[in-house]
Amino acid sequence: MQSSLFFETPEEIYARVFRVLKPRTPVPGLRIEFCRFANPDSFIRLENGQLHVRISDLLQGAPAPVTEALAFILLGKLYRKTVPRIYAHRYRLYLNRRDFRRQAHLVRQVRGRKFVSGPEGKLHNLEEIFDRLNRTYFDGLLGRPQLGWSRQASRSMLGHFDPSHNAIIISRIFDNPDTPPLALEYVMFHEMLHLRYPVDHSGARRRVHTREFREEEKKFPGWKEAKEILKKL
Ligand SMILES: [Zn+2]
Repeated sequence: MQSSLFFETPEEIYARVFRVLKPRTPVPGLRIEFCRFANPDSFIRLENGQLHVRISDLLQGAPAPVTEALAFILLGKLYRKTVPRIYAHRYRLYLNRRDFRRQAHLVRQVRGRKFVSGPEGKLHNLEEIFDRLNRTYFDGLLGRPQLGWSRQASRSMLGHFDPSHNAIIISRIFDNPDTPPLALEYVMFHEMLHLRYPVDHSGARRRVHTREFREEEKKFPGWKEAKEILKKL
């Protein structure tokens, strides 16, 4: 790591990384903007010969080596250059830090809008399903989060648990007489396990479905059958 790194502005860091990745191309004009995104996302684009980088303001106070790592990731992606893995690792390590995650969580709560439809569907009531599964598999010990149906009958996002809004969202695809209720129950059970088993953040890793989680999931009778139904949705 160069010691000059610590005296550089973000623009200087991006210009230097550009020269590393494209040594024969003159550095284009650079505009770096920190934006109030709901998530720690960043975007880069080339427009009229100018590089425009938009970085989450959550990263505004990040240490210079992290800004450098992100510059390698974004410029590498834009110009399809292979970038040493150390940069992706360094960046992920920072995002995984407890203080960063806490800050990101707070920002998401405040900025992220969340549409939660309420538990009542046309056919099924998510609250009833939650309460029944809670009694059967969790001794009734799970606190009930917000429950809602997705806007669209999504096949790719069957369900998800959003910890920032303490909400379980289930795809509308299950609120349909053609979809066996077993599949809906299984997806709800899966999301309830996310309530029970928080994401494991160790090192640069982020493990959502831990081994413990997977073992627990198999306690749902008919999970094999349910998985078959989901495959055919
Ligand atoms: Zn999951």
